Amino acid sequence: MASEAEVAATHTLTIVPENAIGPLITEEASFEAVEAVFAAMSRGDAYNFPVIREAIGHAEALYGFKSGFDRAGLNLGLKSGGYWPGNAEKGLTNHQSTVFLFDADTGRAKAVVGGNLLTALRTAAASAVSIKHLARPDAKVLGMVGAGHQSAFQMRAAVRQRAFEKVIGWNLHPEMLSRLEDTAAELGLPFEAVELDQLGAEADVIITITSSFDAILQDAQIRPGTHLACMGTDTVGKQEIDAAILKRATVFTDEVAQSISLGEAQHAVKAGLIAEADVNEIGAVINGDHPGRGAADEITVFDGTGVGLQDLAVAAAVVEIARAKGIAVEVPF
Ligand code: NAD
Repeated sequence: MASEAEVAATHTLTIVPENAIGPLITEEASFEAVEAVFAAMSRGDAYNFPVIREAIGHAEALYGFKSGFDRAGLNLGLKSGGYWPGNAEKGLTNHQSTVFLFDADTGRAKAVVGGNLLTALRTAAASAVSIKHLARPDAKVLGMVGAGHQSAFQMRAAVRQRAFEKVIGWNLHPEMLSRLEDTAAELGLPFEAVELDQLGAEADVIITITSSFDAILQDAQIRPGTHLACMGTDTVGKQEIDAAILKRATVFTDEVAQSISLGEAQHAVKAGLIAEADVNEIGAVINGDHPGRGAADEITVFDGTGVGLQDLAVAAAVVEIARAKGIAVEVPF
């Protein structure tokens, strides 16, 4: 039973519904939140807790939690959600998620925030952070591998980081390429659908964002100086690029433990091509503890596995903006 003091101290829970988030958060705000939390992770100020992911035996759903605590930003919480394959038939997104934030001093619930748009924004922000810190400054051509839901967000965030003059793209299902073409047009950039050989030969920065379980880009297709942001591989068994590319490259990631177990680096580590010690935290580059790209002809790979702290960081930013604008739903709790 609640104590009298607790009953008296009813507090406010902030709710930011999914459909309110679009106009609230900008790509810049997402970028800043994600860059700051990667830096905090590398300093040891923020850490992710073990991820839970379970097939629940209902509606063919995969459900789980990603959680963590950022002592620097005082963000404590979790993203809960997963994948419901039957949702599309109901007019809903298959991926569903909600972020819950808690007061780090008391453990009381602080906010409930729709997590669907935020997931796309924080994932795009992660690869944009890698482009800012690792791509050649003179990068002109952006190569996109993948044309699904996330790809448009990825492209929008990436083009803010370099003076890209052109976007080229490839997708296993060519009928989806119109998404890349439309997004490039929205950004005022020419788009060309190409084969993978041409993509590797022309692109200075390549983003991979697919659900592939086999290497799409082969080692011989990647030229010196390329930066690759591999964003699709977030599960054991998934793969987007030839493991030999990681052997030639300097490899960076959001979180080393995830990178070598369920990220793009899992295959190169398993094959003995690279070791755990060869995978560097992007946060170390942000903090100035790692020099990042060392030469114009170096290949850099960012293995973006996706961590709960990214979700908490962008959700906290949304709550702050919603409160400042007076449009947060405040509920006594
Ligand atoms: P989506 O279902 O909208 O699109 C899937 C994309 O993968 C399409 O381009 C499709 O053509 C391609 N594809 C499917 N099967 C393939 C195969 N066998 N070989 C090559 N390409 C294939 O998905 P989405 O929402 O755009 O997400 C794309 C990927 O990104 C997913 O794998 C998802 O799990 C991952 N993801 C990662 C993070 C992260 O933080 N790293 C966050 C969100 C999503």
